[in-house]
Order: sequence, then structure tokens, then C-alpha cells
Amino acid sequence: MTLELTDVTLTYPDGEGRLTALDAVTLAVPKGTVTAVVGPSGSGKSSLLAVAATLVTPDAGTVAVDGTATTGLSRGELTELRRRRIGIVFQQPNLLPSLTALEQLQVMAHLDGRSPAKARGRAMELLDAVGLAGQAHRRPHRLSGGQRQRVNIARALMNDPTVLLVDEPTSALDHERGAGVVDLLSGLTRRRATATVLVTHDRAHLAAADRVVEVHDGRLRFPGTP
Ligand code: ADP
Ligand code: MG
Repeated sequence: MTLELTDVTLTYPDGEGRLTALDAVTLAVPKGTVTAVVGPSGSGKSSLLAVAATLVTPDAGTVAVDGTATTGLSRGELTELRRRRIGIVFQQPNLLPSLTALEQLQVMAHLDGRSPAKARGRAMELLDAVGLAGQAHRRPHRLSGGQRQRVNIARALMNDPTVLLVDEPTSALDHERGAGVVDLLSGLTRRRATATVLVTHDRAHLAAADRVVEVHDGRLRFPGTP
């Protein structure tokens, strides 16, 4: 299994007490598949992604990526794991205004110490894969919202992650563009064999997922199981 969360509990400080954001969550995501996560606002969806991304350490339970348990890894080792194995797509693309689409991707490889020529080739290949080969030299203000989100997705794939974590990528898009982004994600998941977790508020997108899980008050519910 490429991504495995086992019995994960996460709490946040809340006044005098603690708020339970995730309550004994167990989830396994095989490579080449999309698991969609739905649930009301505040139910714990983003917390689930943050734990899976190893950005937040749970109070209890374990996270394993590609068979590697993350418990006990140092801060530096976790950073390395994230850089090499995990792609993260947040709700807002957070592109740098002064960089072209191509440069947004090249920066990622630079951080990783790869040769500029290789990085450029890979960045162009990914822009092509997300349908933006013709927009490679545009800065964000000359891209539409949907195109920016595609750059965001391509950037997350620069280091060939095995786990792809995506948080409400379509919330700023109209329905049709949103559906395009979700179809793209599902195609990339299969072609690149990533274990993808897609948080979405739009039920119309669930058809593109291999599996749907619901989160309520930090607990996972698999539709179709009691
Ligand atoms: P969702 O993404 O489903 O809207 P979140 O995972 O963001 O839900 O939040 C789950 C719960 O945890 C909410 O009650 C939220 O207010 C709380 N929460 C999220 N992040 C923090 C934080 N950094 N500190 C304290 N409480 C938080
Ligand atoms: Mg959220």
C-alpha cells in the first residue's frame, strides 16, 4: 500500500480542553487510484491531508508512505520524504507572481539540486501533460483560474511523488473547469501511478474517484459499509 494511515488521532488545543480533529482514522490508498474525501466544513478533511503529508504529527496512530513508517523520523528526514515522495496541491495555487508557468516548476527542481536542463525538460513534459505547453511562458496574471490550478498540479508532480494530496482544487472554479481539473487528476493518477487523495466539496466529481470516503466529526465513514 502506498499511503497508509492507521488509527490516527489528532487534537488541537481548544480553550481549556482539546478539540478532536481526527478520531482513530484508518485509511489505505493503493497506487494508481483516487480516493475522494467528502464531508462538511470543519469535519477534518484538511487535517487528514496535513497528517498524510507529514506536515502535522498526530497524537496517536501511524502514517506510512511507500512502506516507510514516518514515526520516529527526524524533521530533516521528513522534509526529505515530503520532497521525494509527496506532492501537495492546496486549495489556492500560491504561484509566484513574477515567475512564468515553466519557472514555477523549475524552482521545485532547483530546490532539489537537479540539473537545469533536466529540470526544464521535465517541466515542459508536465506542462504538456496538463495541457499548458502553449502557456509555458505566461505569468500567473495571464492564466485563467483553471490554468493556474493546472500549473499547481504540474508543480506538485515535478519530483515524481508516489503520494498526491489534493485539497479542494476546484473551489475557485466554475463547474465545468472544476470537472476538467478532476478528470486531469484522475488521468495523471493512473498514468503516474500515484496514490491520490482528493478532498472535494462537489459530489459531481466523485464519479472520477475509485473510492469515496466521508468524514464526519473527525471519523471516517465508507459509504456502503455500516
Ligand atoms: P475541513 O478541512 O473538513 O473543513 P479541518 O481539518 O480544517 O476541516 O478542521 C477540523 C477541525 O479542526 C475544525 O473544527 C477546525 O476548526 C479545527 N482546526 C483545524 N486546524 C486547526 C488549528 N491549526 N488549530 C486549532 N484548530 C484547528
Ligand atoms: Mg479544509
